[in-house]
Amino acid sequence: MENVHIAPVTGPEIESGYIRIEGDRIVELGAGPAPTGPDGARVDGSGCLATPGLVNTHHHLYQWASQGLAQDATLFEWLVALYPMWASMDAEVVRGAASAGLGYLALTGCTTSSDHHYVFPRGRGDLFAAEIEAAAELGIRFHPARGSMDRGRSQGGLPPDVVVERLDDILAATAEAVDTYHDPSFSSKLRVAVAPCSPFSVTDELMTESAALARAKGVRLHTHLAETLDEEQHCLARLGKRPVDHMEALGWLGPDVWVAHAVHLSDDDIARFARTGTGTAHCPSSNGRLGAGIARVSEMLRGGANVGLGVDGSASSELTPLSGEMRQALLFQRARYGPAALTARQALELATLGGARNLGRERELGSLEVGKLADLALWRVDGAFTAAVAEPVCALVFGPQPPLALLLVGGETIVADDELRTVPQDVVGQAGVAAHHRLVRLAREQGITARTEVHA
Ligand code: ZN
Repeated sequence: MENVHIAPVTGPEIESGYIRIEGDRIVELGAGPAPTGPDGARVDGSGCLATPGLVNTHHHLYQWASQGLAQDATLFEWLVALYPMWASMDAEVVRGAASAGLGYLALTGCTTSSDHHYVFPRGRGDLFAAEIEAAAELGIRFHPARGSMDRGRSQGGLPPDVVVERLDDILAATAEAVDTYHDPSFSSKLRVAVAPCSPFSVTDELMTESAALARAKGVRLHTHLAETLDEEQHCLARLGKRPVDHMEALGWLGPDVWVAHAVHLSDDDIARFARTGTGTAHCPSSNGRLGAGIARVSEMLRGGANVGLGVDGSASSELTPLSGEMRQALLFQRARYGPAALTARQALELATLGGARNLGRERELGSLEVGKLADLALWRVDGAFTAAVAEPVCALVFGPQPPLALLLVGGETIVADDELRTVPQDVVGQAGVAAHHRLVRLAREQGITARTEVHA
């Protein structure tokens, strides 16, 4: 790839340079014309900006099938409205939703995505395998987290008992998921994490046992934390502790943990995240949609805590592009703290290296450097409208997404000229629509109709 503006994220930008890829790695990168070397495909990157592929660190792919519902709800109202519908999903719903969700992410510059799947209705097929199949077909790097809930309403939790599992079943299924799928290699396209859902849907025993399981198997831990003030009230009422204090007592702060949201952190919480190496998946669109609040991202970065980005499930952030979360993060921080709160380059770092750190992959991913995996996005910034913006990184972060000329995962083409190349784009889109219709039908058979508004 040559004649391209390179934003490596680590190191200075190169106005016109080249990137040489061999196999799945970057083997050379520099300013000026590409040196003559071994023959191979040459890509002219004139008019384009090369960035590392974006890394999505929080999602619930199955929610593609239940978008647009409970539009005016708080998190707890939204969950209560949607849990019964989600109890009807099966592996076919998850397969279609994951195809559409991951295809959409790839079209927005994402080369690596995690997913947090925590609803496993009994007798409805292998839901975890279904999303892994979808990711493999698309060719995206995938970090599925085997989620879980074991504290239903009868035990003081928020979810109805019908969507929770038994502790022993969860631990056995989670161990099996890690043993079956987790690949720890440098080039891995599939790594599994352990992910009990949240303090208000999980017993303390499941949190503790999950941490022990993950650490015994050498995989990472993920959960939702400090998303809303309702959650804080729930924890104070039940435990007499705030969420971060509670999770720390259960062994849930550490360099192998990343949490979603972390909106309501105290100064001391931020210091503890930094000290322990606990990462955060910042999901500004979802936080805005549910009125959860604005995370203290610029203070977290200043304090030395790691932050990556996440689109969160599509039911709480409909059709959110990962590229757009950079802009959303930047605008939220500036709205709260002023125009110096977050720069365009910091926002790009959140979406790339920050995400790679959350997933424990900063050695392999998240920046364009010799020796790293060839995961990169090539954005066209010389179009009729984008070319008027003063510089390429500003065009990418401040504005809507520019055309995606190329998306490579380990040197393999996933997207070219805004079109998926590994699977037909219309097939992926239709799979998502079919998943939605199937979920609506399965839910109706159980007598459940989800509402678009809860306050109407
Ligand atoms: Zn979430």
